[in-house]
Amino acid sequence: MRVLVVEDDEALAGQLRQALEAAGFAVDVEHDGEAASFAGTAEAYSAAVLDLGLPRKDGLSVLRDWREAGCGWPVLVLTARNRWSDKLAGFNAGADDYLTKPFLMDEVVLRLRAMLRRTAGVAASVLRAGPLEYDVVQGRFALQGQGLQLTAQEHRILAYFMHHPGRLLTRGDISEHVYARDLDPDSNTLDVLIGRIRRKLGGAPRLVTERGQGFRLEAGPEDAAGGPA
Ligand code: CA
Repeated sequence: MRVLVVEDDEALAGQLRQALEAAGFAVDVEHDGEAASFAGTAEAYSAAVLDLGLPRKDGLSVLRDWREAGCGWPVLVLTARNRWSDKLAGFNAGADDYLTKPFLMDEVVLRLRAMLRRTAGVAASVLRAGPLEYDVVQGRFALQGQGLQLTAQEHRILAYFMHHPGRLLTRGDISEHVYARDLDPDSNTLDVLIGRIRRKLGGAPRLVTERGQGFRLEAGPEDAAGGPA
């Protein structure tokens, strides 16, 4: 899941990046409203965390730009103000949730996950692929009931596959939704990461390579294509 963080306070932006990356999100950060408005309409995100008080363009205008451009992903608004009229303006501009400063980083992660769960329309908070389970709310994987240890990058990639079981995901899909912008999707980084996840999964579910196309998560051997006709 790729998240856009818009916050002009560099220290706070850094803390948000750290907390969200630790929670398994890929994070892009913008520090002013103009750049945020452009990034939100030009790139593919799953959600955004948006400060209201920004240089060059205020947060509410940025949010309106995104909504007018058809961006439907959930937006968590951050504000130093705790006035009802501000909240109302935020919701009218298309905010999904609100957090007043100061806040705990854990709170941001919890709110973001709750927003993503609501907008994804995921009825169950646990996704399954064979013996692998992913708790969307907690952001935890379990294989055969045992906690699965993954790096932040491995976590992001596997979570993306869990949301699209059985579907072919191209390198472009994966890099667009999962990678931070500074990673080159054409390098062999993705192959290395997929290889590592595969070893940790130990064969079920399987991450199948579709040569020249991408990858597919298959729940178990019974789902495997290419068996005897
Ligand atoms: Ca600010």
